[in-house]
Amino acid sequence: MSVDAAKLQGRYCNSLTQYSRFITREVFIGDVPMGGNNPIRIQSMTTTDTMDTIGTVEQTIRMVDAGCEYVRITAPSIKEAQNLAEIKKQLRQRGYNVPLVADIHFTPNAAEVAARIVEKVRVNPGNYADKKKFDQIDYTDLEYKGELERIYQKFTPLVKVCKEYGTAMRIGTNHGSLSDRIMSRYGDTPHGMVESAMEFMRMCETLNYYNLVVSMKSSNPQVMVQAYRLLVETMVAEGMNYPLHLGVTEAGDGEDGRIKSAVGIGTLLEDGLGDTVRVSLTEEPEAEAPVAIALVKRYSLRSQESRVKNQDGVFNIQPTTPNTQHNPYEYRKRHTYEANAFIGGHMVPRVVVDLSRANLKDPAVLNDAGYIYSPLLDKYNMGEQSVDFVYLADELPSFNLPGNLKQLYNYATWQKLTDKTLCHPVFTLQEYVGDVDRSSALNLVRLKPADIESEEFGALPFSNTLVFVLETDALHGMADQRSFFFKLEEMGIEIPVIVKRSYTFDNSDLLLTTQNLQLCASTDLGALLVDGFGDGIWIDAPEVDTKIITSTAFGILQATRSRISKTEYISCPSCGRTLFDLMVTTQMIRSRTSHLKGLKIGIMGCIVNGPGEMADADYGYVGSGTDKITLYRGKEAVKKNISSANALDELIGIIREDGNWIEPVIEG
Ligand code: SF4
Repeated sequence: MSVDAAKLQGRYCNSLTQYSRFITREVFIGDVPMGGNNPIRIQSMTTTDTMDTIGTVEQTIRMVDAGCEYVRITAPSIKEAQNLAEIKKQLRQRGYNVPLVADIHFTPNAAEVAARIVEKVRVNPGNYADKKKFDQIDYTDLEYKGELERIYQKFTPLVKVCKEYGTAMRIGTNHGSLSDRIMSRYGDTPHGMVESAMEFMRMCETLNYYNLVVSMKSSNPQVMVQAYRLLVETMVAEGMNYPLHLGVTEAGDGEDGRIKSAVGIGTLLEDGLGDTVRVSLTEEPEAEAPVAIALVKRYSLRSQESRVKNQDGVFNIQPTTPNTQHNPYEYRKRHTYEANAFIGGHMVPRVVVDLSRANLKDPAVLNDAGYIYSPLLDKYNMGEQSVDFVYLADELPSFNLPGNLKQLYNYATWQKLTDKTLCHPVFTLQEYVGDVDRSSALNLVRLKPADIESEEFGALPFSNTLVFVLETDALHGMADQRSFFFKLEEMGIEIPVIVKRSYTFDNSDLLLTTQNLQLCASTDLGALLVDGFGDGIWIDAPEVDTKIITSTAFGILQATRSRISKTEYISCPSCGRTLFDLMVTTQMIRSRTSHLKGLKIGIMGCIVNGPGEMADADYGYVGSGTDKITLYRGKEAVKKNISSANALDELIGIIREDGNWIEPVIEG
């Protein structure tokens, strides 16, 4: 049996328009069960050398104190697998009963040792019983079956140990490390990722072993979201409902890492999917749990909202799924018209920021919106992250704005402007349907999803100057806004839509507020953009600096690959295999290449998994020994084992040779 694309119905969650958690089978991992009605669990992975017992124990303790409910530790060979016993013993002696997970790649013998010691093992079906040689092999059905039989023989002993010891297992597929067998038959696709896991899950069921968790990770949130969704439909079709471990691999660090993680993980949480979350950041592992906790916390309230008690006091979920042609397993941008070359059609999504509360007497106020003001020249410089529209409400600036920046005013104020060049009105729905003075260039109309049922909506005078600004005040706002897009599609309406979300935070800690904004906006707006919904985004958050709002907006567009404005770094979170200081190296590489818009650079800690995990990076910087780096152009190793002292210069040399280097602009 394999995934049959023709039979897919796009049914992967309980509801597309309201929050409803997909209830999975409960699995037992030490004293902390997962799935079923258990809370969404938080976990992470150590970065220490597994042979460094004290270092690993202490790091594990820091992670548990930060909120981790499971801790994963790499076991690259038998000796590390054996040392898990010592690590576990010392943790228990210090009063820490956290379930441990052994991370296995390529080494069945280490897995069989670890499964006798720890509460869970993670295997990667792409490399458990296969060596990756990047070979394209044309298997006949019989040969393919023969390969599965060979894997079954190698995998069965581990399953038997897990059954005997009550050990759980995660079948953890990674987009970047699919086996040659899967790649040859299904390609580098969500379909291939799902089939890779399903083959192993079917083998487990044949052996009557059900203590399973599944993951479908990728560094590309769009691929990751599609793969998890497809996995759920496939599992359900085969009578399975194993818990889902959510994660975006190699998400990177800082703002980028948080945004990318939230786009992928948050989108699935919005769909009601996910039983445990691991956020992978190129930072200390104890920095990951607070991010995962913040992502998950939003849903503890929502599950109450969507569950209605019946007369017996039992919770019932009554989902509604619209009749939509939308395919959740493939990216397709919603078809819209181009509103006078301002927005929509094939144009990249536009960015709007609100400057109405800023000091509009100071030209430098636009710096935060990506227009750098030079007082000497009295001139603005635009960059890749210059916003497209500023909303000024009813406030008039006392200086001239740059010639290519469009200004949005509330209708009554716009109407009174003497010079309307580059100035556009924002109407309420009621205003727009009345007898008003409309712009011949661009008219924005604010509305909420429920307005689509209103009389005013029915009376809208359509023209290709009209653009909606879609707002929501629903608790499950993404689904509320998504339902509006479904209805537009049903009605055949191709008006471009700017998705607007407003946030208020009651935390005085600036760093926490910034992180909350990044996570909430990336989840809410990212979830729509990965489905191709939205011609523009507008984030409103009065407590947050415009500069952060601007970079968050462009970060979300980058993570959803809908508008590329900067270099993308695919850097691994590091683990016990890491051969250099990833955080320092990532910063060093970033400092010299961050102006190379659109290039994807992989920074990987080890040669064992790094090249595969870099997925679609254009260049790779991979640790291949102590102080040794191997450089990649795509999937090809072009400089092997060079000294780390000049590896970055060499990397820049390769980028230069390829004609992809541009000199950075020094701002004066
Ligand atoms: S790529 Fe990074 S996280 Fe993955 S195994 Fe290698 S060092 Fe560890």
